[in-house]
Amino acid sequence: MENNLYFDSLDLKLKEYAKNNSVPIIQDEGLSFLESIIRIKKPNVILEVGTAIGYSAIRMIKAGAKEVYTIERDKVMYEEAKKNIEEAGFDDRIHIIFKDALEAYPLISGIKIDLLFIDAAKAQYQKFFEIYTKNLCDEGIVICDNMLFHGMVENKNLEEMTRGLRGLVRKLNMFHEYLLSNDNYNTSIYDIGDGMAISIKK
Ligand code: SAH
Ligand code: MG
Repeated sequence: MENNLYFDSLDLKLKEYAKNNSVPIIQDEGLSFLESIIRIKKPNVILEVGTAIGYSAIRMIKAGAKEVYTIERDKVMYEEAKKNIEEAGFDDRIHIIFKDALEAYPLISGIKIDLLFIDAAKAQYQKFFEIYTKNLCDEGIVICDNMLFHGMVENKNLEEMTRGLRGLVRKLNMFHEYLLSNDNYNTSIYDIGDGMAISIKK
């Protein structure tokens, strides 16, 4: 692509912003996995839960997705994402929805989703999954980031954690179980980046 140099510098700028402002954008390894899935699957429509500054949304379009709907509830993040997506020239293909994802379903209820990417508040992953897979097409894919949560999900010493953290780890564990026991999906969980689950609708 002739715009590669421009994209590279925007990418670097977004990564730098994320680092300086502690925004948890997707890790390189996880992104590379996600990009491969997109190149194979060639999704028309992706729904992302958790935009942050728009970094992953932009990368998913660059990997070959036609359109991305992405939901963000934080005003500062939303404004930042809007600016970045315009700068990338993708404001016609990335649609940001400024709302809590637990309440945003009516806004996309008519849209068929080929790939659902869940990357927001971990305690609510199961709810996001239940709400938005209603619109997942046949053989659609769900990818969930941060499933291993910096290794804490695999750490069995729960008593060493603060209560809040322990609750979160328990919830992620329950979501793990929920995915693996869900007969409508084939799920694999990989130790890539911060842990990624991929569930393919049967
Ligand atoms: N996908 C981004 C990173 C997202 S970080 C990337 O890789 O570039 C997680 C984001 O989810 C944060 O910006 C947070 O504000 C948002 N978020 C958390 N819970 C949410 C909810 N219930 N609804 C909408 N956004 C949410
Ligand atoms: Mg993440």
